[in-house]
Amino acid sequence: MSTLKAVRGTRDLLPPETALWTRIEETARRVFARYNFGEIRTPVFEDTSLFARSVGEETDIVSKEMYTWEDRARAASEKAQSLTLRPENTAGVVRAYIEHKLGETGQLQKLFYIGPQFRRERPQKGRYRQFSQIGAEVIGPQSSGSESPLRDAEILEMLATLLDELGISGWTLHINSVGSSADRAHYNEVLRAALVDLAPKMCVDCQRRAVTNPLRVLDCKVPEDQPIIETLPKIVDSLDEESKQHLAAVTAALDAAGVPYTRNHRLVRGLDYYTRTTFEFTHGGLGAQNALLGGGRYDGLSEAIGGPKAPGIGFAMGEDRLVLTLQAQEAAQAEKIDAYIAPLGESLNPAALALARELRRAGLSVELGDGSFRLKKSFEAADKAARRIVILGEDELQSGILTVKDFATGTQTKVPRAELAEFLRKPGGE
Ligand code: AMP
Repeated sequence: MSTLKAVRGTRDLLPPETALWTRIEETARRVFARYNFGEIRTPVFEDTSLFARSVGEETDIVSKEMYTWEDRARAASEKAQSLTLRPENTAGVVRAYIEHKLGETGQLQKLFYIGPQFRRERPQKGRYRQFSQIGAEVIGPQSSGSESPLRDAEILEMLATLLDELGISGWTLHINSVGSSADRAHYNEVLRAALVDLAPKMCVDCQRRAVTNPLRVLDCKVPEDQPIIETLPKIVDSLDEESKQHLAAVTAALDAAGVPYTRNHRLVRGLDYYTRTTFEFTHGGLGAQNALLGGGRYDGLSEAIGGPKAPGIGFAMGEDRLVLTLQAQEAAQAEKIDAYIAPLGESLNPAALALARELRRAGLSVELGDGSFRLKKSFEAADKAARRIVILGEDELQSGILTVKDFATGTQTKVPRAELAEFLRKPGGE
C-alpha cells in the first residue's frame, strides 16, 4: 500500500517552526490593537458566486485556481449550492459587513483576520495551495471618512511599523493608483489599442491577456517581454483629477510620517475590485515570489456584491512568506560574529585593541575595525560581519559607557563597559 502524504501544495507545520508562526501572529495582534482593529473570523468556504462577483470572473484566481464543489441538497428544504474554499478573505469580510449591517452603525469598521486561504496554483517556494494570510480591512459609509486618503496612509504606516516590529528589514513599499472604475476602463482600452501591434511579439499568456484583460499584461514576469511592457502607456495618464489628488494626498501623508515608498506604474494587482490606491511590500530575499503583502482600495466592492456604498481599503500579507523571510534573516544572523569594534579616529586604535582583548578573553568573537575608517565604512563592514557594532570614541572612553547598535533591530543602546560582554552574549535581534 502506498504511504499517504500531505496533499501537493499543503504542508505540516511542526515545532520549532510553529513557535515562529505564533510569534508573528502575536506581534500582528499587538500592533492591530494599537491601531484600534478588532478581529473578524469568517467561514473558510463561501458561495462560489461571492468570489466570481468580487474577485472577478477573468482573474486567474476565479478562472483556474479555486477549489469549488457542488454541495448536494441533503433534504427537501436544502438547495444544491456551488461552494468554494476561500482564495482570499476580503470578499468574505465585505459579505459579513453587508450581512450584519455594520454600515448602519455609521462607524468606520477596522477589522483584521488571520487564517488559511486556498488556491490551486503551481506550488513552489513561497507559493502553496493552502497558505495563511494576515490581513485587515477599513470599511464604512462615506460619512465615516472611509474614502479619505488618510486611511490609506495610516494603513501603510501601520504595515511599515508591523514589519519593523516583526524584525523584517530591507522591505520596499511600492505604491500606485488604478483610479476610478471609469479610469480603469479607459486605461484598459488605451492598453488594448497599444497591444494590437505589440502582443504578437509577446508570450502566449500576454497574447491572451491583451484580448481578455489587458491590465494583466503589466503583471507579466517573462524577461523578453519586459522591454515591450516598459514602452506601454502608464495608468497615471488615464487618471481623473480626483484620483490624482487622492494619490498625492496619500503620498504627502506618508512623507510627513517618514514612511519610505517608491511609485510603481506597473502595480495594478491581480484582483478586479481595486480602485485608486494599490500597494505591495516586497522583499529581495524571497526570490521569484517576492511579495510579502499586497492590498489596495476597493470603493465599489460592497455595491458589486449587492451591499450599500461602502468605500474601503485593505491588505493581505502572506504569513508563509513572513516566516521564510525571518528564517533566512535568522540563519544569516547566526553565522555572524558577536561584535565589531569601531574606533572613532586613529588615536583610539590602542584603546580599541584593549577593548577587543577584554571581550575576546570573555569568549566573544570580535572583529576590530580601524580608526582611519569613516564611520559609514565601519558600519558597512560591521553589518556584513557582525550582529552588533560597538562604537568607541573619546566620550565613550572617558565615560566608560559604550554605544552599541543591533543590526537586526536597528536599535542603539548605551551599555556600561563592565556589562558589555554580557550584553553582547545575548543572541541579538530582540
Ligand atoms: P493576494 O491576495 O494575491 O493579493 O496576495 C496577498 C499576499 O498573500 C501575497 O503578497 C503573498 O504574500 C500571499 N500569497 C498569495 N498567494 C499565495 C500562495 N499561493 N502561497 C503563499 N502566499 C501567497
